[in-house]
Amino acid sequence: MMDLGFLHPFFLGPKAENQEFFEQFLLEFLRDHAYWRKNFHPADGNVVPTSAPYRDHYLQFIAAMRKELQELSAELKNAAPFYSPRYIGHMNSDLLLPGVIAEFMTMMYNPNNVAGEAGPATVPRELEVGWQLARMFGYNTDPEMGTTAWGHLTSGGTIANYEGIWNFREVKFYPIALAEAAREMGFDFETVGPERRNLSTYSKWELVNFSVADTVELLAAAKQQITASGMKPNDVKRFKNTIDRETLVGLGGAAFFAKHQEIPPPKVIVPITAHYSWDKALKILGLGLNNLVLVKTDKKMRLRIDHFESLVAQFEQEQVPVLAAVGVLGTTEFSSIDPIDEMVEIREDAYDRGFYFGLHIDAAWGGYMCSLFRREETNQFCEREEVREDLRYFPSQETYDAFKAVADSDSITVDPHKLGYLPYPCGAFVARNMGVIDFISQKASYLYDIKDDRSHKSQIEKLINLGQFILEGSKPGCAAAAAYVTHRVVPLNKHHFGRLVKVTIKQCEYFYAKITALAAELEKKVLIKIPFFPETNIICFAVNVKGNDQLALMNFFGRRVFERLKINRFKPLQMKEFIGSYTSLVKGKISDELAEEVLGDLEINSETFVVDVVDQQREADHIFLFRHSLMSPWLLHRWEGRNYIDRYVDYLRELIEDELVKLSKSRPMEKKVPKADD
Ligand SMILES: *Cc1c(COP(=O)(O)O)cnc(C)c1O
Repeated sequence: MMDLGFLHPFFLGPKAENQEFFEQFLLEFLRDHAYWRKNFHPADGNVVPTSAPYRDHYLQFIAAMRKELQELSAELKNAAPFYSPRYIGHMNSDLLLPGVIAEFMTMMYNPNNVAGEAGPATVPRELEVGWQLARMFGYNTDPEMGTTAWGHLTSGGTIANYEGIWNFREVKFYPIALAEAAREMGFDFETVGPERRNLSTYSKWELVNFSVADTVELLAAAKQQITASGMKPNDVKRFKNTIDRETLVGLGGAAFFAKHQEIPPPKVIVPITAHYSWDKALKILGLGLNNLVLVKTDKKMRLRIDHFESLVAQFEQEQVPVLAAVGVLGTTEFSSIDPIDEMVEIREDAYDRGFYFGLHIDAAWGGYMCSLFRREETNQFCEREEVREDLRYFPSQETYDAFKAVADSDSITVDPHKLGYLPYPCGAFVARNMGVIDFISQKASYLYDIKDDRSHKSQIEKLINLGQFILEGSKPGCAAAAAYVTHRVVPLNKHHFGRLVKVTIKQCEYFYAKITALAAELEKKVLIKIPFFPETNIICFAVNVKGNDQLALMNFFGRRVFERLKINRFKPLQMKEFIGSYTSLVKGKISDELAEEVLGDLEINSETFVVDVVDQQREADHIFLFRHSLMSPWLLHRWEGRNYIDRYVDYLRELIEDELVKLSKSRPMEKKVPKADD
């Protein structure tokens, strides 16, 4: 069994075990802050007189404040106990102390990371966090080595996903705008694009199939050729304005696609397991929800590569541009890992044929798992055997290959406020090619000379007014402080952060074994099935009453059992033994083949999987699954011979037995249901 000792100082602890040093730190930095105030023009004297605390209105204010705070504090205790190993529900857990302390401390200075001036300590740290994450993913961050990545924080994965699409859109349609403007200006750019030809010789279809790197290079070449042409400053300005006018954001989508009729609006391809933020992204960017194309998934809830490939072939053949394909590294519901490596391959092959699309990885959940694959000194990607030490199954060859290919994507979403164990709000967007910022900048730096940015210092200078390059405006500097300090104290490699991630995966393997054992033990009474092998650290299972073939009854039974694992706002939390979560496989959302297989395993008649409401309580348009995100690092902590997973599985057995007895008494679907002890 794994020694969890290394984790002891990481968190406040389920029993606030580390309260003492936590308080010391808070007090130390609170005092530090107070002295900072006192020492700014100390001779100014006090504004609040020393007599103030004795006045009535002062006392009343304090009393009112205390009352409100106490009420808030009381109500906050309705929160789910994320810190507890008895919480095995959603993607929440205790928070890493370096982050919490940095956050508290920084909050007192209230930095705003919209610009360097408002966040002098925190904007540079935010950019550093971008590079820390980029390195973990295998993107190049060394300016001496060529194309550099960049990244920044967002309020969450949702906004990071929007940015992925937004960046791709501005880059993809830039060559058309440039070609259009050049034609108007009677100018041509020489030896540009993937084929090193004059820009005017490319068809529009070819122009929308330039890669991100092609377009970044095109812009650099354009700048250079305009400068070399000796064009007058006024003409350069006119040129620039013409480009601005011809871009998709200049014209607006409707006018842009009306003008370039041979180019239909682009598609975005995501697996059906994709987070709903992708729907939102297409809506708010005005790309049309109908242009979101869903790829089927296989029995492991991974994107089905054959379907993906056929969609790509179809759009290529029909000459419909594809803005991006999205691979999910750790789906929200199941933590499944899409075959990123195969997506990369299909993308490269397509590009070789002149058909390009961006590849974005939605690693909001699974991004931090990449730390498990990085060596400390060299940041090299580990061999599979190195990752596997102490683990039974992880990573499967498929999973390993997928993680390895993350470095070949164009951009990545990751949520430090999920598996990064940091406070909300903290998401991140990381792009492989920093050149993309020139296409999204508010200040349109293109065609202006930009500084040499071959060091992080000068890159920070270029990016310091962060609000120019991102969707958000004012934003918390505290989040950047928290992420930066955490990544410094717990670096993103297999010896540090990776060990924490490994504990979560190890727990999942143990959980899997326990549930499998429980299934064998109860096989005469219930069928407990794990519909997809848990590749990482979320596990789902379904429970059906033996002999029942009706989905509605299975769902009903599952919900009854789950009722006791669910937080009820009106009942004291202390009464909960464990807290879980659930998910559903919804009819129409999952493929019929998959449904057939899952239901077959559960001995459910697949004809009872129907969209129609059977009755209010017993719906059969979905397959009810118990779901547990195993983020708490303490699940294998053992006392009196049993750890938290042993205890949970014992409790689950009790709940199932209880409900079986109740069911045999009430017999909600008389004809099909056997007695509990049949
Ligand atoms: C959580 C999640 C998101 C959304 O992130 P928020 O931080 O909630 O905005 C997007 N994609 C995936 C895969 C997620 O797990």
